Amino acid sequence: MTDAPANQPKLEIRIVPVTPLQQNTSMIWSTETKEGVFIDPGGEVDKLMTAAEQFGVKIVGVWLTHGHLDHVGAAMAVAERTGCQIIGPHEEDQWLLDDVEAQGAKYGITDGKNVKPDRYLHDGDVLDLAGNKFSVVHTPGHTPGHVVIYSQEGALAFVGDVLFRGSIGRTDFPRGNHAQLVDSITTKLWPLGPQMRFVPGHGPLSTFGQERQDNPFVGDAVTGYQGAEKQAPDEISQKLSKRWS
Ligand SMILES: [Zn+2]
Ligand SMILES: [Zn+2]
Repeated sequence: MTDAPANQPKLEIRIVPVTPLQQNTSMIWSTETKEGVFIDPGGEVDKLMTAAEQFGVKIVGVWLTHGHLDHVGAAMAVAERTGCQIIGPHEEDQWLLDDVEAQGAKYGITDGKNVKPDRYLHDGDVLDLAGNKFSVVHTPGHTPGHVVIYSQEGALAFVGDVLFRGSIGRTDFPRGNHAQLVDSITTKLWPLGPQMRFVPGHGPLSTFGQERQDNPFVGDAVTGYQGAEKQAPDEISQKLSKRWS
């Protein structure tokens, strides 16, 4: 343990949009050890490694939410450059990880490589970053092997393409399932609490409470979900400012 004040942020985050699809790659790292991970490094490995250098971050892992190429295209390149492990998604997405190179031409992503993870993720798994715990829930619907990775203490979730500000993930791709996606959101995400802020795969950040209020696809008015009371926004931001910088 250190003598740092209790309200000192333990983790930092920067979001680096990559690929023509502007996918949000998150770089999170420990302010104590400078060890960090990329979540969903979809492409542009040079841009990502420059960001790591800029903040003095030693990349010790790649964590993947699902197998779509704009989320995983640079995973192998990061692993080759840093020697780190690739963790996730669930094995139900391996068919997509095997198809990254073939799909790349369609989306103008030519630097993507097929991915072989060192470890798959499952519902209830816990990941560790320099003593900071991250939990895993399996959230199929957008893809069958999609997972969401979140920090309960830091009130922050990395939701990939499950949920967006004012929208939800597409389900018109092969093996997509709309009802299953809505079920994943209401049974796996909402119980984590309305204060939970999330980084989606594309577009701006939001909170679960905000989406329950006005998301036209999964708002409480649409789904009939009844759960914990919504917290006041200033309470949320106060809590977050203590955990993240
Ligand atoms: Zn996707
Ligand atoms: Zn995406």
